[in-house]
Amino acid sequence: MRVSWTRDGFTWNLVFRLDPEDAITGTVTDGQPVTMATNSCRVVLPRTVAEPHPDLLAVAAWSIVAPWTRRRVRFDRPISPELALALWSGWGVEAGPASGLPRPADGERLALSYSGGADSVAVAEMLDDAPFIHFQREPHPRVPNRWTHYRADVLAALAAETGRDLTIVRSDLEFTLAEPRPGYPEHHAVAAGALLLADDMNLGGLAVGYELGSRWLGGDRYLLRYTPDNPMWAPDGMWGRLFATAGLPIVLPVGGVSEAVTMRIALESRLSPQVRWCLRGDKGGPCGTCGKCLYKELIQAAVERRPLNTTITAKRPVARKWQDPPPYGGQEMIEYGCAWVPGIQNTPFAKAAEHLGATPMSVAWLERCYRPAIAEIPARWRKRVEDYMALEVGYMSDDEARKVETWGTAHGLDHDGSDHD
Ligand SMILES: [Zn+2]
Repeated sequence: MRVSWTRDGFTWNLVFRLDPEDAITGTVTDGQPVTMATNSCRVVLPRTVAEPHPDLLAVAAWSIVAPWTRRRVRFDRPISPELALALWSGWGVEAGPASGLPRPADGERLALSYSGGADSVAVAEMLDDAPFIHFQREPHPRVPNRWTHYRADVLAALAAETGRDLTIVRSDLEFTLAEPRPGYPEHHAVAAGALLLADDMNLGGLAVGYELGSRWLGGDRYLLRYTPDNPMWAPDGMWGRLFATAGLPIVLPVGGVSEAVTMRIALESRLSPQVRWCLRGDKGGPCGTCGKCLYKELIQAAVERRPLNTTITAKRPVARKWQDPPPYGGQEMIEYGCAWVPGIQNTPFAKAAEHLGATPMSVAWLERCYRPAIAEIPARWRKRVEDYMALEVGYMSDDEARKVETWGTAHGLDHDGSDHD
């Protein structure tokens, strides 16, 4: 893979060219196959910035081209030998040319990659002076946009209404993906703008709203498995080491708590009027009909201990997966919802509830913080998060922590026993 960045005012243009061994179908770190649509994209910053450290440009490019790179990557600006080593040890990829010093790890500020969803609002609540960097999708000049219902403009407007220190970065990088749909080539591509701005904003870390499920329980695409070594979000994983080498460690302030906790914090937050996880809704509110709206409504109803408020029936395609037996992506939250929503047997989750047999007791661990997640936060920001969790959430007991650490093993066996009666 050969990668080059050119600058035109506020706009940074990335072009990448495949080597003979590369292919346009590749695999994301989480295992998802992806097919390339085009080999160029741009990142538009809100202002001109001094030339970023070459390692920042390289990590931003890598978050876009990694799935399609097999053996080597050649950047247009020399990267530090340390970054080349992180690419070699993480991916087995020869990266170069290498010379010079890595970016110093002395940036002072911690920015938040802010999407506007409940998880990032919870982080915003915890880090109430962190500047926001919001990624806004824009169309690609060479790829037809079949996703006009995706209202990136609405999400950006809601971010602006928070009144927080906000930097909006616009990009068409999601359209480099043809299959399965436009989206981030790697999850980390959401940080492309933050990487390009890191020197300008004096950033020493980037907070993201990945929670307990994504960090420790296997997340959405990785099913039902305890993942201390999560290659995307563990500090010692390949991506964690790469970002840290560029002086911008990834920080997960809500990595120890479930979406039940982030939802509660977000709903109680001053920013609650601006919380929005649905990508399709307009200014008036979320669409209420997509799969994400259904999933988040289950969590919100459970947190508020009230019946589900939805017009979606079990027959609708977005509810189909809940008619099949587990495992499910984000299963811990389906258990939480089934345990707490009154009248669950009259909802699209009735079958799932039957299979899971969850009770308020069996899901109590999802209302507490998993302590090892706090230890992963860089020391200079740790105490603040630790104190917040002690005061507002509370920590898991040893038994509860064991629920995390046996997720997908002992837990899965329970279900083998109960599903076939
Ligand atoms: Zn929706």
